[in-house]
This record gives sequence, C-alpha cells and structure tokens, in this order.
Amino acid sequence: MNILVINAGSSSLKYQLYDMRDESVLAKGKVERIGMDSAILSHEPSGKNEVREVSEILEHTTAIRKVLGMLIHPEHGVLERIEDVHAVGHRVVHGGEAFSSSVIVNEEVKSQIKRLFDLAPLHNPAHMLGIQAVEQNLPNVPQAVVFDTAFHQTMPAHAFLYAIPMVLYRRHKIRRYGFHGTSHAYVSERAAQFLGKPYEELKIVTCHIGNGASCAAVMNGKSIDTSMGMTPLEGLMMGTRSGDIDPAVVPFIMAKEDLTVNEVSSMLNKHSGLLAISGISSDMREVTEAMQSGDKIAGFAFDMFTYRIRKYIGAYAAAMNGIDALVFTAGIGENSEAVRKAVCSGLTFLGLEFDDERNRTGRGQERLISTDASKVAVLVIPTNEEWMIARDTYALVSGGEPHGIAVTPEQVPSRGS
Ligand code: ADP
Repeated sequence: MNILVINAGSSSLKYQLYDMRDESVLAKGKVERIGMDSAILSHEPSGKNEVREVSEILEHTTAIRKVLGMLIHPEHGVLERIEDVHAVGHRVVHGGEAFSSSVIVNEEVKSQIKRLFDLAPLHNPAHMLGIQAVEQNLPNVPQAVVFDTAFHQTMPAHAFLYAIPMVLYRRHKIRRYGFHGTSHAYVSERAAQFLGKPYEELKIVTCHIGNGASCAAVMNGKSIDTSMGMTPLEGLMMGTRSGDIDPAVVPFIMAKEDLTVNEVSSMLNKHSGLLAISGISSDMREVTEAMQSGDKIAGFAFDMFTYRIRKYIGAYAAAMNGIDALVFTAGIGENSEAVRKAVCSGLTFLGLEFDDERNRTGRGQERLISTDASKVAVLVIPTNEEWMIARDTYALVSGGEPHGIAVTPEQVPSRGS
C-alpha cells in the first residue's frame, strides 16, 4: 500500500509518499508560495534527480494536482498510475478535546476540525484546504488525520487546566493542549525500544527542540504534562517565540507601547525568543557560531535558551518523581552538541552522567550520550512525524487501530453539576 503524507500550511504544502510494504520513502517534496503566480514545487524522487518547477499555483487543489502529476511523471515520477496512491494521511495541528487519536476523515471529523479553527487559526484552516484539495483530486481515496495534540490528551486535569475562572474552560475550552505530540510519542517509544525496556514502565522527558520547541513528561507510556499550552506559544524559549512570560506583561506593553492585540501577538510569536535576545538570528546555528567566535550577547541568548530547557526537565522530574530517560530530538535537539551539553551540565543532581565523546559522534543516528553508569539514560532520537502519520493512516485504512490511546479527557471537577 502506498500512502501519501501531507502537511498543508496556508501557503505551503509538504508531502512524502511511503511504500508501506517496506516503509520506504518513494518521494518527498514541497510546494511553496501557494497563492502566487511563481509558486515553487520541489520534488525529490527516490533514486532519481531532484526537480524544481516554478508555475502559477493559486490554491491548494492545484498544488495537490501538481504533486500528483509529479508522482506519475514519466521522467520524475515514482508511480505508474495515480490509482497507486492508496490512502492519504494529513498532519493536523489542533484536535482540541475532540480527538485523542488519529481518525479516518468523514463529514463529522471535518466539522469537528472546522469547529477548532478558533483555537488554531493559522493551522487548522490550512489543513482543511489540504483535505478538501485531496477530496477533489482523489475522490475515492480514504484520508486520515493525525493530530499534534492527540498524544497529550492523557494529561490529567491538574496539568491541563489554567488557574483562571472555570467558566472560561467550560465556555471556550481554554486549557493546555500541547503540541508536537506525534514527535513526543515517536521518540519516547523509540527510546524505550532502544533501551530494551517496557515503555509502560518508564519515566521519560522528551525535548523536541527545533524552531518551535516543547518538552513533555511521558510516564508509563502516557503524556502527563507538556510545556506548550492552548497555543504553541507557551513554555520554552524558541526561535522567535517568547515562551513563558508573566501574563500581566501583555496588557502592560499594550498600554505602554500602544499596541493592538494583533501587534502584541505578532511580537510574542514572531519577534521574540532567540531572535530578540541574540539580536542576530532565530537560527541556533548562527547564534552558536557567533557565541563561539566570542559574541557575548549570543552567548547570553544561548544560556537563556538552555537554562529554560533545564528548568522544565527539573520540573518534569518532580512531576514524575524521577526520570529514567531524557530524549533530545528535532533540528536543534538532534544536531546541536553544544545545546545538549549545556542542558545536561546542570542535571548531575539527578544522577545524570553526560558522555562528551558520545555526544560528539554518531550524528543522524539514534544513540546514547550518557555514560553506562548514568542513572538517567540520555538519548538522541531523530524524530519522524511523517512516518508516524503514514503508520496510523495505514493502520486505519486497513481496519486496525491507530497508534496511541483513545482516552476521554479527565472530567474536570465541578460543583453542583
Ligand atoms: P521546525 O520547528 O521549523 O521544524 P527544525 O526542527 O527544522 O524546526 O529545527 C530548526 C532549528 O534547528 C534551527 O534553529 C537550526 O539552526 C537548528 N539546527 C539545525 N542544524 C543544526 C546544527 N547542526 N547545529 C545547531 N542547530 C542546528
């Protein structure tokens, strides 16, 4: 069975085609600048040369048509006929409380995703465009959706509620949802396999550190807390996002700087984090290079970034009463020796013994970077969200169970109801 995995954004669309017989990637690529007359389709077929095509792509339906055309292209294609795409899996950022595992797309699922537009205004509408574009191009092909929030639906109410009037949760579903769930699920489970220990018996802290960054506490195979909140702005310091901030700062700066809601939101999401503090870049490579060539401000930004991660690891060690494994993943987590070392340097109180040599070697591979004697196994596990989406889609269209646990979110206690 061949499965096309799609991650649709408002002006871009990434794809990966899997042959599930051996789980190999037949092709991958992306369409950028959807909505413009000079949109770019970059296509990487396995075993063939990459190709880049510039053309007018005004909406997602055309983008999908172009991608499908590329998949069966006589020269750049990897399939004989379009009927060889047997199912499509979509990444969807926000599943709210409605979804705690992946599901097959039907009318009810689509209306639920639409109802969540308010909670993820930048993401869910774009995913819906992707789903509809596939329906138009491949009307008979089953589609599944895999949610970034689903894995975290196991969080207990004391971890997911904010200490604000309960009516706001009841009326607007304001609570912590958490994101990067597909990645946290994948790397925590791989960590257990790597260590040869039962997933259901481990206390794992996963650090997904890319442009967006979040930590999760995964206890006995379930997410019990995570650093992102109702939106992906809360928690760690990120490339351009502030992460945790005193909420009183928001109305304060709005008044002092005469900012609108959109302006303050844009400041916290796009002009903060590593970019704001380093004054150089949101990109960890550039900040690290500047730090290593003696730039003190870059060094300060780096310290602030890694301090916040360490603080969350400590908090989650307390939440779980200990840690068996600490996992680094995503762009920075997988690639930055310096960040991993700095984060782990203050964690000896947990019995964590970092191994410098292991940290330096084995790039791109799953590996242990703590000593054999360390009480906490520190691992680098490259994430693979696309594969998780393909796997769940395959399971669902074959009539099986998707990954993850279908849970009903814990009932929040209330008086008199
Ligand atoms: P996104 O959240 O956009 O998916 P990624 O997971 O791709 O982000 O991570 C992007 C981040 O990874 C950038 O900050 C980039 O600088 C960082 N990164 C990639 N390679 C390295 C490296 N070799 N050393 C340090 N940081 C790296």
